[in-house]
Amino acid sequence: MVINDNGENGLERPVIPARYSRQILFDGIGEAGQSRIIAARVALVGCGALGTVQAALLARAGVGTLRIIDRDFVEESNLQRQILFDEEDVRQLVPKAVAAEKKLRAANSLVQVEGVVEDVNAATIARLLDGFDLIVDGSDNFDVRYLINDYAVKTGTPWVYGACVGSYGLTFPILPGETACLRCVFETAPPPGLSPTCDTAGVLGPIVGVVASLQVAEALKILTGHRERVTRKISVTDVWEGRQSQIDLPPRNPACPCCGRREFPYLEGSLGSDTATLCGRNAVQIRRKDGLRLDLDEVARRLGPVGKVEKNRFLLRADIDACRLTVFADGRAIVSGTTDAAVAKSIYSRYVGT
Ligand SMILES: [Zn+2]
Repeated sequence: MVINDNGENGLERPVIPARYSRQILFDGIGEAGQSRIIAARVALVGCGALGTVQAALLARAGVGTLRIIDRDFVEESNLQRQILFDEEDVRQLVPKAVAAEKKLRAANSLVQVEGVVEDVNAATIARLLDGFDLIVDGSDNFDVRYLINDYAVKTGTPWVYGACVGSYGLTFPILPGETACLRCVFETAPPPGLSPTCDTAGVLGPIVGVVASLQVAEALKILTGHRERVTRKISVTDVWEGRQSQIDLPPRNPACPCCGRREFPYLEGSLGSDTATLCGRNAVQIRRKDGLRLDLDEVARRLGPVGKVEKNRFLLRADIDACRLTVFADGRAIVSGTTDAAVAKSIYSRYVGT
C-alpha cells in the first residue's frame, strides 16, 4: 500500500490519503496501522472538556467512524477548556454533539462524524454503542462510567477511562478479559461530597489536554493492533505540581462483580437513577423512563404564557422562577439554578408533563 498511488503494477491498491503522511512516518503506525485507523469505529461518551480534545485528535488521526454522544448544550463557562466550541455556539444554544460534528467535519471530511444528542443510560447504551470497536470516556460522572464498564466487559469492547479535576487527572485503558476493569480498580464510586468535583475545585485546560491526549494515544495503540504496547498502568498527572507518575494497575480480581462474576447491574438499570446532578453546574438533568420523544413546538406553546421561550430545532429554553429549564427533543430536561433533584422534577412535571 502506498500513499496517493494506485500502484504501477496494475493491481488495485487502496489509497491512503496524503494528509496522514506524518502519522504514517511514525514507526508504530505505518501504512498498515493507518489502514486500521481508517477502518475503525470509535464512540466517545461525553463531549465536554475531555471529549472535545479526544474528538479533535481522533478525527484528525482519521478514525473512519467517530460517534460523539453528548446530552448537553454549549455554555459560556465551557469555552475556557472545551476547545471545539465558540461564542456563536453559546448564542445559538447549540448542543455540544452538534457543534462538535460541524467543526470536525470541516477539519476532516474523510471521517464519518456523527453527533448524537442523547443521554447514555441503561435504556440507550446498547443502541448507541453497538458495533463500535472502542469506547473513549469523555464523561464526568461515575454512574456513566460504571455503565460503560458493564457494557464494555459484557461485549468485550475495549475502553479508555479518563477523569480530571483542578490540576489533577488520571487515565487507564481497560481491555476486557485482559486487564483490570473499572470495578476491579474502584469497586464502588466515591461517596458524593468526599471527592472534589469541577464544582468545588474547578478545572484547568492543560490537565484536560494531558489526560485526553493520553487516552487517545492508548486508543491509537488499540486500534492499530498494538495491544502489547498498551500502558497497563494508571497514569496520574498534576500539571500545577509538575508531577507525573504511573501506578500499577491491580491484577484482574476474580471476585470482581463485573468482569469476575459477570453481573451487570448498571446495564440492567438496577443501579443509577432518572436524575443526575451535573458536574460543574448548578443543575440537574431529568430523563424520562418511558423513552417518549417530545414535540418541542407543543411544549413551547404551553410554556409561552409562563415566560420567554427560546427554541431551535434541538432544544427549547425557558426561565421559570429562579430556574432555567432546557428541554431536549428526546424528552430530557436540564434544570439549571438548583442541585435539588426534587425541585427539578417538580418543575419538569409542572411544565413539561410526566
Ligand atoms: Zn473487574
